[in-house]
Amino acid sequence: MINKNAFRNLSYGVYVVSTLDGDRPTGCVANSAMQITSEPATIAVSINHDNYSNACIEKTGKFAISILTEESDPGLIGIFGFQSGKDVNKFDGVEALEKEGLSVVADACSYLVCKVINKMETATHTVFLGEVIAADVLKEEEPMTYAYYHKVVKGKSPKNAPTYIAEEEETVQKEEKWVCSICGYEYRGEIPFEEVPEQFVCPVCKQPKSVFVRK
Ligand code: FE
Repeated sequence: MINKNAFRNLSYGVYVVSTLDGDRPTGCVANSAMQITSEPATIAVSINHDNYSNACIEKTGKFAISILTEESDPGLIGIFGFQSGKDVNKFDGVEALEKEGLSVVADACSYLVCKVINKMETATHTVFLGEVIAADVLKEEEPMTYAYYHKVVKGKSPKNAPTYIAEEEETVQKEEKWVCSICGYEYRGEIPFEEVPEQFVCPVCKQPKSVFVRK
């Protein structure tokens, strides 16, 4: 048997993987990136075939990983994770640093720039193996884990709350819960959702109030 809950105990991060589409910087969100060797330093990232960035990495032969932190603007996940680089310039309005010809996210704790040295195709994803050509620490903040993103950023439990408080609040919210239909963010503001101004946008994916559904 395969109990898929077993996979939940693997650890993942939240990364912006960036590259170039011609001269234009683009990128996407990935949660699987791992260091494979230390000398020379190599990193593997797994990118879905449906991500526009996949073909761009292939053509450019380079990618950068920006490691998001618990303090990073969650809107970055919306910008890079919930729209396609085919339609939008994702780096417009994002504070970026130029490293080895690629744009990396400034609001990250570290970046790594890699040159693709190998790749492997799977049913749904390409695993790119990159040799690190530049890397640095940008700030001392806790890297965001995928579990943290799900529990805290998406609003399932208040930050730093002991579990019992989180569960208590969740029970209260169960009566009326407004959830973003695009990214799954759960509204948890002080005022009832109906009274939230129409200009309200999802803090994660930046979609309008109208995409929220009652659960
Ligand atoms: Fe959203």
